[in-house]
Amino acid sequence: MVPILGRSLGATVDQPAAPRSRRLVTVLTGAGISTDSGIPDFRGPNGLWTKNPGTEKLFDIDAYLADPEVRHRSWLARRRNPAWGAEPNAAHRALVDLEHQGLLRGLVTQNIDRLHQKAGSSPDLVLELHGNMVEAVCVSCGARSRTADALDRVDAGEADPRCLVCGGILKTATVMFGQPLDPAVLDAAVLAAMEADVFVAVGTSLTVHPAAGLCEVAVRNGAELLIVNADPTPYDHLAARLVREPIGVALPALVAELSR
Ligand code: ZN
Repeated sequence: MVPILGRSLGATVDQPAAPRSRRLVTVLTGAGISTDSGIPDFRGPNGLWTKNPGTEKLFDIDAYLADPEVRHRSWLARRRNPAWGAEPNAAHRALVDLEHQGLLRGLVTQNIDRLHQKAGSSPDLVLELHGNMVEAVCVSCGARSRTADALDRVDAGEADPRCLVCGGILKTATVMFGQPLDPAVLDAAVLAAMEADVFVAVGTSLTVHPAAGLCEVAVRNGAELLIVNADPTPYDHLAARLVREPIGVALPALVAELSR
């Protein structure tokens, strides 16, 4: 099965779990963990897509590939993303502490902002389900480059900068709507969910699949589910605990509790 952004996980949820020897935590983070860093979420009251209807279409792969104007507007939207100058906040740092305690099994993120790595989380433990915005990739030859270089070319007057190797269409190394997730990254995320004793979902509305389905994978395999989010989610009924406090306060407290 090829996992597609926006569709549910299928048969991959029923694999047997690995044996457990320690109390391990897997964390799933969404846009809500980065709002304290000045990056608005997507669907909240001040969300990017709430305030700018139509922006979502700039990140639809079919529209992107078909229309140079969409690509140009997409690059301009990338450049406006406040993540470029953002710094990690207390919640990101709390997850670094969790790792230093030896308790972090995996850090699965829907965010493309690279703030977990910037905070100090080990790149080996961070699973970027939706890719990242720092790198660009050619859809024809797969060559990787820097998004910053593409944006420099846009600033210099190229509306639709092309791959310097083959001339193919260039995009950020993010998973757009309608695009498959990287199967290796998703498999690693499913394994991290299965092997967790505690699964913490932070700052995610749990409405985007297959990421949201990881909660169910974890619970089916015996994990305790904790949800830290301001608003209700479709998985609240599976949670052992719901935390509604601001993430920047709630997550450091939760990590301190898990570390005891
Ligand atoms: Zn290329």
